[in-house]
Amino acid sequence: MLADNYDLVKSNIEKACKDSGRDKEDVTLIAVSKTKPISMLQEIYDHGCRHFGENKVQELVEKYEALPKDIKWHMIGHLQRNKVKYIVDKAALIHSVDSLRLAEEISKEAVKKQVEVDILIEVNVAMEESKFGTLLEESEELVRQAAKLPGIHVKGLMTIAPYVEDPEDNRQYFAQLRQLSVDISEKNIDNVSMDILSMGMSGDYQVAVSEGATYVRVGTGIFGERQYTV
Ligand SMILES: *Cc1c(COP(=O)(O)O)cnc(C)c1O
Repeated sequence: MLADNYDLVKSNIEKACKDSGRDKEDVTLIAVSKTKPISMLQEIYDHGCRHFGENKVQELVEKYEALPKDIKWHMIGHLQRNKVKYIVDKAALIHSVDSLRLAEEISKEAVKKQVEVDILIEVNVAMEESKFGTLLEESEELVRQAAKLPGIHVKGLMTIAPYVEDPEDNRQYFAQLRQLSVDISEKNIDNVSMDILSMGMSGDYQVAVSEGATYVRVGTGIFGERQYTV
């Protein structure tokens, strides 16, 4: 059941790649498993999934401990500075760096634990009040500052597009993020690569792929609706 969902998302990604002249190997599907039990993660792990995304530090750590060590864990949620120390050596990639203070904290903990941490800069392309992320025009400066810090490497950009009925409405934001990554890449900043574009969720990942996404983050499309308990 979950395996079928996973395969369907995979084949949609492959189709979007084909239609836009991209190599399917250039797009990685991250299964966003927040709120879902270990057993469900194990099910798609057994089916071949190795990339999982979580948005809460404690949940990521618990699942990290419980599941096989060849999983790449993606921290995709807003990250508080006082929790950085719990995940610097567990997350393969932190997608949600949106301030210099956060980047400095990650750097400090990376140096302390003697690990190298890959990060993305989160950009609030659509300028939604409710979302985290740097503004488009402030992003390059944050990239430059973060790149100077020891123990961390800027690998690209991430955005969370608005919730929309028609995924085509988000094409403009994906295109803008891609353009920004091209612009920054052309500046050849030390310790910065713009190889990763993390964009696209259950509602709009095909559009994101056609605009150049290299990581798509799909939760509902694989695991079904989330239930939040209070
Ligand atoms: C929850 C979440 C997703 C997945 O959302 P779906 O709509 O369930 O696919 C992707 N990215 C981020 C940052 C999220 O928090």
